[in-house]
Amino acid sequence: MSRLRPATRSVRASVGCDPTHGAVMPPIYLSANYTFEELGRKRQHDYSRTSNPTRDCLAEAIADLEGGVGAVVTSSGMSAVALVLQLLRTGDRVAVTHDCYGGTHRLVRALAERGQLDVKLTDMTDPSCINELTAWSPQMIWVETPSNPLLRITDIARLAAVARDTGALLVVDNTFLSPAWQQPLEHGADVVVHSTTKFINGHSDVVGGAAIAKAPEVLERLAWWANCIGLAGAPFDSYLTLRGLRTLDARTRIHAANAHEVVELLSVDDRVARVFYPGLSDHPGHETAARQQTGWGSLISFELHGGEPAVRTFVESLRCFSLAESLGGVESLVAHPATMTHAAMDAESRRAVGIGDSLIRLSVGIENVDDLLADLSQALDRVGRTTCVTA
Ligand code: PLP
Repeated sequence: MSRLRPATRSVRASVGCDPTHGAVMPPIYLSANYTFEELGRKRQHDYSRTSNPTRDCLAEAIADLEGGVGAVVTSSGMSAVALVLQLLRTGDRVAVTHDCYGGTHRLVRALAERGQLDVKLTDMTDPSCINELTAWSPQMIWVETPSNPLLRITDIARLAAVARDTGALLVVDNTFLSPAWQQPLEHGADVVVHSTTKFINGHSDVVGGAAIAKAPEVLERLAWWANCIGLAGAPFDSYLTLRGLRTLDARTRIHAANAHEVVELLSVDDRVARVFYPGLSDHPGHETAARQQTGWGSLISFELHGGEPAVRTFVESLRCFSLAESLGGVESLVAHPATMTHAAMDAESRRAVGIGDSLIRLSVGIENVDDLLADLSQALDRVGRTTCVTA
């Protein structure tokens, strides 16, 4: 299948693989266990914590799109994060993007407090971090690009060179873009992590994750730990996620087009103080993003003038953007990172990475774009009125 385009490969993943009935779409195997052919002779699968035919179809499809040798499908994005951290030994050094997802931040900080890992939170978008990282010589470098919620861009290839020099594993959390817009293994990463809850499933009805490896020995260790701890994704979740993955290309094309128009609207609105979006030519990571991404994504963050009252008026006036966490689903969402996605981070750390109280994040969905633009405009008009009244 590798000569086919990614859109075709995701639509056709495991299509027609059922030898029993010739089902076009792969059937779902819910069974927890499988009979042995005879004493001492097991079949391909024996127990669904270890392997499951439906989960394997999804793992194969995700690994194929990311260009990995294989993937481990987990019960959530955080279990994929926890699984990949199992590759480290007690006391190992791990450098983590300083503005990583709040849940990842909470986990690595907890492991550091327990003395299990030596964690350095690093601004990896800053080129001067390269010398510092080389000198520190970590066993793992953990990158999120674009980062959440400020969409800072890290040069994956540059960090891959550091990882090669120091013998570290380079892990990239690719949740914000999905393989439709970025394939980190191609730029030198060793492992890709996903919260499949987001773009890969794309319908906000499954929580799941995946870890994709470039090398067979890393895949083997990940699969061993997933079985050992019991982190595997459920068959039904895998079935739904594979169904979502089939439309990844079609969905992301509409996501991207809609996001582009939303950025155009926000960028010229004087109630908006600042827009963060890698597709803007004045975004500090624009050139790197243009080099390593094949699309800008559909996450947009921006700051509103008018502080907390303006933020409240804006989010409460929207009708086509639900006030909810998560991202990458067909539906548009609005989030306030300081009180939602990044509430697990203490206020000082939030301030240090630039997540202010006026910051709003949009996950632009695939609704009709004119409806989205009209909704944003009317919410901004209300903000204008509130700030005039309170000024
Ligand atoms: N990584 C990133 C970048 C995320 O945004 C999230 C969740 O929002 C996670 C990991 C964790 O994924 P999950 O919520 O599926 O456990």
